[in-house]
Order: sequence, then C-alpha cells, then structure tokens
Amino acid sequence: MTPLGSRLRGCSPPSAGQALPARRIAGPVAGGSPAFCNLPKVTGTSAAFGAYSRRGEPWRGLAALALAAVALLAACSRETPPRKAAASVPPAPLAGLSNAWAETEAFVNLGPKPSFSVEGAKAAEHIEGRLKAAGLEPVVDVFTDATPAGPRIFRNVTAELPGTTGLVVLIAHVDTKAGIATNFVGANDSGSGVGVLLALARCLRAEPSLPIGVLFAFVDGEECLVSYGPIDGLHGSRRLNARLEPRRQQIRGVLVLDMIGDRDLTVTIPRNATPQLLDLVFRAAHRYGVRNRFRLLEGFMTDDHVPFFDTGYPAIDLIDFEYGSAPGANDFWHTDKDTLDKLSPESLATVGAIVWDVIYSLPTSEVPAAVSRPAPRATPRRATVPRKTKPPIREPLRRPLQ
Ligand SMILES: [Zn+2]
Repeated sequence: MTPLGSRLRGCSPPSAGQALPARRIAGPVAGGSPAFCNLPKVTGTSAAFGAYSRRGEPWRGLAALALAAVALLAACSRETPPRKAAASVPPAPLAGLSNAWAETEAFVNLGPKPSFSVEGAKAAEHIEGRLKAAGLEPVVDVFTDATPAGPRIFRNVTAELPGTTGLVVLIAHVDTKAGIATNFVGANDSGSGVGVLLALARCLRAEPSLPIGVLFAFVDGEECLVSYGPIDGLHGSRRLNARLEPRRQQIRGVLVLDMIGDRDLTVTIPRNATPQLLDLVFRAAHRYGVRNRFRLLEGFMTDDHVPFFDTGYPAIDLIDFEYGSAPGANDFWHTDKDTLDKLSPESLATVGAIVWDVIYSLPTSEVPAAVSRPAPRATPRRATVPRKTKPPIREPLRRPLQ
C-alpha cells in the first residue's frame, strides 16, 4: 500500500500545437468483494481528491493531500487485514489524468452526435485527431450493420499500444442517444468515458514500456434506436468483439467506461462482470482511498461489455448509474440535463487512476486469458429491476468529490 502523496506524477500535457479548443439493470457474482474498511464519507477521501486536479490551481494542497491520505490509510490498516501488495503497480499519473477534463469538454462541445449522422462522423474524426496528437496510430473501422431503420453505417476508432504480454481492451462509446432533445450532448453518457480514455492514451503512450498491450476502442452505436436486441444497440462493441476473435487468447480484460464523470461519483458495477476484474477494481479503489465510491449493483446491466462477457471474455462495466439530482436518483440520464456542469475533473481523474491501476495489476493477476465455459444465459436488456424495488443505499453519498 503506497501513500497517495507519493503517487503524484504526470505525463506530458498536450503541447501548444495540440491544445484542445477549449444503463440498464437485472442476480449475484461468485467470489465476492474484499471486506475493506469503512472509509469516512467525506473527510479524508474527498479532501484528498479535491486537491489533485482543481483546474487552474495545479497540485495545490499536495501536502494536505499526502497527510490526509496517510491518515486515511493508517485508519484503514487498523481495521483491514493486510492485502497482497501491488508492488509492480506504478503510481497513476494524476496530473496527466486530469487532462481527462479538457478532453471531455472538447468532445462534449461538439454537440449531439447520434450514430450514422454527419455529427457522428465528425466525432470519430475528432477522436482520430486526438489520438494522433497523443502519438498513437488510430484506425477507423467503417462498417455497415442492420438496425430497425435498415442498414446503417457506423464508425469505430481504435488505437493500440504494445505491451510485454497480453492485451487489455478499454472501451467508451462515442454516440449520443437520438431522439431525446435537440440539445442533448451526453456529457456523462458517454463524453466522460471518451475523455478518460483519451487522457489514459496520452499517459500510457508516454510510458517507456507497458506490461500489457492496451487497445483503446471508441465504439459507435451503443445506444439503441428502439429496444436493445440483435439488430439494435451495441453495434460497435459487437463488431469489435467479432474482430478480436482471432486474438481471444491474448485478452486479459475488457473494461467499459460509461457515465463516470458525475460530481457525486458512485460507480455502480453491474453483476454481469468477471469476479477477478471486480476484485482488481475494488482493490485499486481501496488503495486510492475511494472504495466508498465503488459498489456492486444487485442486477445485470446492458452496456458495451455484454458482447464480450457473454462470449466468455473477462469483462467489467464501470458505470455510475446514479446520475441525478439526489443520492440514488438517476434523473439526469438520457435527458438534456446531462451537461458538463454535472461532472467534475476529480471524478474523471479518479476513474482514470483506478483503470491505470487495473492495467498494471492485470499481468500478474489470475484473470483467465479466455474462458472455456459456455456463454451465460442471455442478459436481460436494459433495466429489469424497477427503481422502486432497489434496496435503500446504506450510506448515501451526500457530497461530491470536490
Ligand atoms: Zn445512454
């Protein structure tokens, strides 16, 4: 366990020439999650993370952050049995990951970007440009897929960084849902995932070597037109799943980032997730003092991890499905209230740091490269547990991470 204060470092921010212009629930998972200590809700944790990425005030209050983190971790150590140390996991470049805010802002400011629209094509171009600016070599996969409205053209943008062994796939969807409002920009759904992936791409590109290959996938067509089904929704992730089949043995994990920018971050991980990945996420969250911001849902969820999970890949969906005006509410989701002012740089960088930690933990973890078990029964589409049947949250989050 490394004190948070010693984890502060950063990859190169974008140079002047590169400057930026300004789901679904349904049963339990084996394995369970580690019994971490009950962290105080706001004192140490929120204060610490609020210090690291306040825009325009770089790294102010780092001493306070380090002290808070040490005090927090010391408090944990009194209650938590020792865990296997992730000795080979380098500290996340929190300064570099704070670029996720600028990336998200620029992407969201492109406006609505429904699939198979001119705006959707421009969104793919934007991501291609940002990946090139970060020194990666993006590939645009233009493909036609059946939809309830007939065949339509979609665009996936991918870029890969080589590593010593295996491959981890990071996914965010590019499209915004059509038919909500003319001003629906999908800041959280899924501008947030795109921003964090772009920041991670730049940071990981700056690493001298990677222990595992990383495939960044910006997929199109996550949103359905009518109702999720074989020809509606998840178009980009189903396409990517099929294209990765020849590399199945390489893949150690598929992580989807969707709706992870909420100021009041509560990552509600659906149970259709691979237990080993879930364990890595919870351990990483614990190390960074934000375990209380991550929990397991009681149900399944349909998102871009489903094509992979259902065909036996280790997969997990990092999604905050409590995106609303009050703790536990989700009333900003798929409304024109899904705007940048509901997000925070701290939440984006927090999730970026957790993903960074998982990437470096994967090569030595016991996540199988491929699972020989048959695919699980079909996952119910969308939310199948009415909100009113959800159990009350034991410890409602009352303050945002700032
Ligand atoms: Zn959506």
